[in-house]
Amino acid sequence: MGIKSFDQNLCINGCRICIDDCPTDVFAPEPATGKAKAAYPEDCWECLLCEEECPGKAIKISLAAVRKLYYPF
Ligand code: SF4
Ligand code: SF4
Repeated sequence: MGIKSFDQNLCINGCRICIDDCPTDVFAPEPATGKAKAAYPEDCWECLLCEEECPGKAIKISLAAVRKLYYPF
């Protein structure tokens, strides 16, 4: 499932941490505002890096795929 929620209102304009650090480039900048958008949410690996590092607490990640991998019952 990956990204459970993303609140762009909480995104701090120009921070770019999620854009620069996501290993699968899920996030991209909105040209008009400089805020991040979840451009490719289907590519999320559920590594939690963006949720941990976002200073605005704008991103919530679901661990559904990871749980299914380790607890498939
Ligand atoms: S890490 Fe958070 S505050 Fe920074 S660009 Fe991404 S969503 Fe916005
Ligand atoms: S959890 Fe990891 S892979 Fe998924 S969007 Fe965040 S940084 Fe990218």
